[in-house]
Amino acid sequence: MTDIGATIWFTGLSGAGKTTISTEVAKILRSRGLKVEMLDGDIVRQHLTRDLGFSRADRDENIRRIGFVAQLLTRNGVVVLVSAISPYQDVRQEVRQKIGNNFIEVYVNAPLATCEDRDVKGLYKRARQGEIKFFTGIDDPYEPPFKPEVECLTEKENLEQSVAKVIEQFDVLCSNAAVASACL
Ligand code: ADP
Repeated sequence: MTDIGATIWFTGLSGAGKTTISTEVAKILRSRGLKVEMLDGDIVRQHLTRDLGFSRADRDENIRRIGFVAQLLTRNGVVVLVSAISPYQDVRQEVRQKIGNNFIEVYVNAPLATCEDRDVKGLYKRARQGEIKFFTGIDDPYEPPFKPEVECLTEKENLEQSVAKVIEQFDVLCSNAAVASACL
């Protein structure tokens, strides 16, 4: 296995399964001896982007900063797992272009009703009660990716299946990178 830097970017509604899948993916990649870092939106917002809110401009800035860190780590041989709602297509595209080839977009796709039923953090209930404004999926938009490398349909597939799809795509990226470096 080539020790390769890459960014695996999980996007999707709150409760779709980004953190759950990326945590499992991290375990597998670490067990292979790879350097792995997780940038989870909820945690990043307590540190790197603590000053930001949930306007479009602030959400875009949040993603740009996460993308910047992911880019630095990626070029230093780390596999970065980003879990962030990242609702806007344009800024996701911007990050993809900055990071280049070693980028995998994973659309963690579950219907809003499923995410709301799960309500992992109790946020949907609060959003429905009007306690949280501009909540993605309720009163703020989510723009699905046009052409993600991976789509995990977490309502239909189990965690193992979702994780396997991501690992499979990572392995494709590694073999492409190995071919590319052999051709230099
Ligand atoms: P997010 O990080 O997208 O906000 P979480 O990972 O915190 O979402 O929560 C997703 C919830 O959905 C968890 O309770 C998880 O157990 C459940 N779930 C059910 N099926 C799947 C699946 N195939 N992949 C990931 N999570 C799943």
